[in-house]
Amino acid sequence: MHQVQLAGLTVDTRHAIGGERVASAETFESVSPIDGAVLARIARGGAAEVDAAVAAARAAFPAWRDLGPRGRGEILHRLADLVERDLEQLAQLETLDNGALLRSHRRGVMPRVAHNLRFFADWAVDELHHEPFETRGHTNSISWDPSGVAALITPWNAPLMLATWKIGPALAAGDTVVLKPAEWTPLSASYFADLAAEAGVPAGVFNVVQGYGAEAGAALVAHPGIARISFTGSVPTAKSIARAAADNLTPVSFELGGKSPLIVTDDADLDLAVELAVEQYDNAGQVCLSGTRLLVHEAVAEEFAARFAEAAARLRQGDPREESTQIGPQIHRVHLDRVAGFVARATAEGARVVVGGGANDELGGLYFRPTLLADAAPGSEILTAEVFGPVLTMQTFSSDAEALELANGTEFGLAAVVVCGDRARAERLTKNLVAGTIWVNCFFVRDLRAPFGGSKKSGVGREGGTWSFDFYADVKNTVYAPSGWKE
Ligand code: NAD
Repeated sequence: MHQVQLAGLTVDTRHAIGGERVASAETFESVSPIDGAVLARIARGGAAEVDAAVAAARAAFPAWRDLGPRGRGEILHRLADLVERDLEQLAQLETLDNGALLRSHRRGVMPRVAHNLRFFADWAVDELHHEPFETRGHTNSISWDPSGVAALITPWNAPLMLATWKIGPALAAGDTVVLKPAEWTPLSASYFADLAAEAGVPAGVFNVVQGYGAEAGAALVAHPGIARISFTGSVPTAKSIARAAADNLTPVSFELGGKSPLIVTDDADLDLAVELAVEQYDNAGQVCLSGTRLLVHEAVAEEFAARFAEAAARLRQGDPREESTQIGPQIHRVHLDRVAGFVARATAEGARVVVGGGANDELGGLYFRPTLLADAAPGSEILTAEVFGPVLTMQTFSSDAEALELANGTEFGLAAVVVCGDRARAERLTKNLVAGTIWVNCFFVRDLRAPFGGSKKSGVGREGGTWSFDFYADVKNTVYAPSGWKE
């Protein structure tokens, strides 16, 4: 009764704490966004389960720390092997649970899950060093020491990919982990705990507590026994976590929302601009990095809008398990209503629907049509708040200075896309854009060596490469004197 068969896998619905499966008195439903089917009833954890998980992670910490980067790396590579062994089933499981395209889970997301583990395992062994330097004959030696228990809190839009983006570096750094997955997508993390055990991750090193944010999540981030909090999610939740973390002065890393601009200059390759703009509907718009505000030079705006509308009309919306589908459902009824609310308020305030504009009535369920809105009032909600659905806006500009003012004119600073035909002009634009990641004439080219994070309200800190270890580890400087030695 604590296990369900899904996508050819046996998924345990209980927490994974200290190498054991632990049930809770209460459960919550995991519902598929594809057809509303109840996939499983998941253990609903709270403070007691969090206490047990943190205690298990603390007990497991010294041995994991002392294993060193090579020993930990071998285990993480075995875990990546198991992800690759079960890649097809994991892809199907994730699609059932969060409704994202099966073909992208197969070809992009699950391979990236394995890569997240391998990359940070290898980085800890091969790259994590700093040249010693001398101070008046004394030698400074810098090391990255494991810091303790890392609390990881993740959202639903890319559940296992975003979880392993944290689990990989945390475990490679020598920390032990308590993961609280999003309540709308609990399944892949639960199965991953079994893979971790099979790979030889010692009991207590990797723990999963399932449950709601206000219960399990809040108890975890307030726990005095944790050393780090890495959170990916929304700004309001981050504020609440920051308040909880303040009591224990627990260091936080926040990867938050965005309202990123996609700038199209008048010398841009318009075919490329349209192609990149349509890509912003990926994952049915449920991507933090999406360039949802199309800022188009007035000289090319009309042509761009016409070509964009044609390309958007060709997008195939439907069951995310079909190979030909390009846009799947929204994650949940609550979220669909939220997205619809943004569009309704924007049109009520005078925004013009260029494409889409509402739920896909032919498909029913949780499908929202890819939408483009123009002529929204400056400063209005639709131009400033994160929708996190397949809803783009278009504004025009007449000078690069105006483009920059519009681009930087929100409280977010996660990403930006620039489509421009002139290298020097693109460099002037990127220099003045406030964003953690900027793509020029491309989108979503990600390298784990690169820093990743958001400026302004889009985040706190950076992860990726050594930046991840700077967060998960205690970075230490040891100064050796030239004298005082007996030899
Ligand atoms: P959310 O903030 O509602 O929830 C995220 C996680 O936090 C969930 O696991 C939730 O249970 C937990 N949580 C909620 N309240 C909590 C509390 N009080 N204490 C501790 N944990 C709590 O976000 P969401 O709706 O799941 O995700 C969408 C958001 O995530 C969007 O804003 C999106 O932009 C952002 N996101 C950012 C990135 C990035 O890398 N910057 C990536 C993906 C998603």
